[in-house]
Amino acid sequence: MNIHEYQAKALLRSYGAPVSDGRAVLRAEEAKTAAGELDGPLWVVKAQIHAGGRGKGTFKEPRAGDGGGVRLAKSVEEAAEEAKRMLGQTLVTKQTGPAGKQVNRVYIEDGSGIESEFYLALLVDRVTSRISFVCSTEGGMDIEEVAETTPEKILSFSIDPATGYQPFHGRRIAFMLGLEGQQIKQCVKLMGILYRLFLEKDMEMLEINPLILTDKGELKCLDAKMSFDSNATYRHADIAELRDVTEEDPKELEASKYDLNYIALDGEIGCMVNGAGLAMATMDIIKLYGAEPANFLDVGGGATKEKVTEAFKIITSDDNVKGILVNIFGGIMRCDVIAEGVVAAVKEVGLTVPLVVRLEGTNVEKGKEILNNSDVDVIAADDLKDGAQKIVKAVKG
Ligand code: GDP
Ligand code: MN
Repeated sequence: MNIHEYQAKALLRSYGAPVSDGRAVLRAEEAKTAAGELDGPLWVVKAQIHAGGRGKGTFKEPRAGDGGGVRLAKSVEEAAEEAKRMLGQTLVTKQTGPAGKQVNRVYIEDGSGIESEFYLALLVDRVTSRISFVCSTEGGMDIEEVAETTPEKILSFSIDPATGYQPFHGRRIAFMLGLEGQQIKQCVKLMGILYRLFLEKDMEMLEINPLILTDKGELKCLDAKMSFDSNATYRHADIAELRDVTEEDPKELEASKYDLNYIALDGEIGCMVNGAGLAMATMDIIKLYGAEPANFLDVGGGATKEKVTEAFKIITSDDNVKGILVNIFGGIMRCDVIAEGVVAAVKEVGLTVPLVVRLEGTNVEKGKEILNNSDVDVIAADDLKDGAQKIVKAVKG
């Protein structure tokens, strides 16, 4: 689960990490009052969307004077004007994809004078199963690009959970970033705060890009991106509350209501599979035969007919879907339940694209019988390979 920058900064502030004072604004009328509550003489107006790269982003319908999603202003009036311009517009950045994201909130912040910009992130390293720090002197840049072109400018190490964060970890980062004197102390303290926050809130990622040294020589978190482990939000009511469903893919949102493991992708073949491993293999083999999956979906073991029906409806609601592959290897999941769900969904919403079904395992005969006795136009497949070839052929000719 992701949250907005202004929410992330409120969390940072509550843990004692240095951030600028700011106000979130939802309606243009509130912008002037909000900006007036800040000291100035510099204001920053920032579009709040769940995507980075806002500074270099562009608005979909640019109007005169429009810039990216991060704008500096020199007066309360100018800040209010920038906020008004952004609200309701669609911002396209490297991370939003070409469709962009509508700006429903902006964050007006006290502007900082910048001496230098650094990159800092904490994330779960899946290789060591530990929390890792990643830092670089190349702040405000695309870290993937830095990793590719100048990997020596990145320092990364993981924290042993037995010792937890230690001051020497913070000093390692401070020296890498070229900090001196009091800044080293600040850095050691800040890294400790970030580590504790990350751990206590069950985060998956915390990215500060840029972490800056202000013109007054102090460290400050100028941007903040946080993502939390969705499996742990049940024990963090304060975090769960920060969820902004308007930022989520409507199909994924619908799927989450039915507790379905669904992730929307950009391809043309809708997939309904049981088991995460088989779902991954199905996506791979679709690619192998020259098409792209439209989604990941693991209907799980204990799915009911109703759940399968909803899953099928979500797949067909995707306009990009030009064909559907149902691939079930029934163990705990019974093939007849899948068949009933598919038939029920087709009855409700119709079927306008080719459907390939591969059923194997528990109650397979019953499942096939249900499909054969229905009006649903099914292309039967024998195995995974056959299913993938048939659906790609049906879609691509
Ligand atoms: P992003 O583009 O979505 O990553 O948004 P950021 O919050 O990282 O802002 C992009 C860039 O805007 C930063 O790298 C800074 O160069 C600039 N910026 C953001 N806030 C301030 C500020 O308070 N003062 C100044 N001078 N520049 C800022
Ligand atoms: Mn940033």
